[in-house]
Amino acid sequence: MRSISGTILRLTAAALLCGSFAGSVAAQEGTPAKQLFGGIKLPSKADAEPLGFYAKGCMSGAVALPTDGPTWQAMRLSRNRRWGNPEMIALLERFSGDAARLGWGSGILIGDISQPRGGPMINGHSSHQIGLDADIWFTPKPTQPLSVQQRESYPFTSMLDKSKFLTVDSNRWTSTHAKLVMQAASYPQVDRVFVNPAIKKKLCETWTGNRDLLGKVRPIYGHDEHFHIRISCPPGSTTCQKQAAVPKGDDCSSKGFAWWFTKEPWAPPPKPDPNKKPVKPRQVMLSDLPKACAAVLAAPSRSEDDATFGGSAVAYTAQPAASASARTVEAIVNDPPPASDDMPIPTPRPLQ
Ligand SMILES: [Zn+2]
Repeated sequence: MRSISGTILRLTAAALLCGSFAGSVAAQEGTPAKQLFGGIKLPSKADAEPLGFYAKGCMSGAVALPTDGPTWQAMRLSRNRRWGNPEMIALLERFSGDAARLGWGSGILIGDISQPRGGPMINGHSSHQIGLDADIWFTPKPTQPLSVQQRESYPFTSMLDKSKFLTVDSNRWTSTHAKLVMQAASYPQVDRVFVNPAIKKKLCETWTGNRDLLGKVRPIYGHDEHFHIRISCPPGSTTCQKQAAVPKGDDCSSKGFAWWFTKEPWAPPPKPDPNKKPVKPRQVMLSDLPKACAAVLAAPSRSEDDATFGGSAVAYTAQPAASASARTVEAIVNDPPPASDDMPIPTPRPLQ
């Protein structure tokens, strides 16, 4: 009797497993990629590889930026986007020390890098998908470390004078801001630094250092409260898709740059034709990403401690705020912050 009921139990369990497996495959087929990648909390246990392009891909073997370091703090921890390629995380740590030496407070505040397995996100960015993009706040790290809760609500500061058209606020922008952006552009592995067009213009007008580095500083919507560092595909990577080279020189007097200061980029999108059925924008699906991304989603996880760059998640313990344990972060995941306030992107827009 016992063995029969045991068999039934095993069969039921097997049927349930099969059912849930079939269910998960079906769910993957019909679920937008941003939901699949946005729902994963840990990286895959594999070699670090960027797979695909900055705005269409995923990554394996990501490592986490420690929440706190001597010259940085990771912000908005509940978003779980402090994962990246080891080259990116190493560069951020190096940059944070260089920033502090430049006089940028006690270091940098670091915003989104990527999700644990990269991929499209539910809100906030079109790139940041392969662990080679990171956002840095235009606010220095305060001397007094920010608590986990403070990092959720700490306000952004725009560098623009919003009462004028596309103009940097001269009460806020300083030569240290300029040095910080240009320091980021100076590393050979940095491919591009994205800033608001007004900020690029200010740099074009004032930068007296190496003008060729200004070519890496690219104008883009938003990016007036933070700037965005993009590194090149790591040397030897065969799975990472390179971006076209930036223009030579400072690119301060090109037609492309002048376009940003016309009305066209800021015009509201044309009103939809009431006689036409609205076209629903097509969602990016797993099948739109490189094939290897399906395996990345299915791969076993690595623990956060194990995958934290330079050692344990709480390796840096000299500051009281360094107690952002996985459990604390988990608790605030249940109460996520509102969707990113990134600017809507009007059309047409230039290729970046
Ligand atoms: Zn960004």
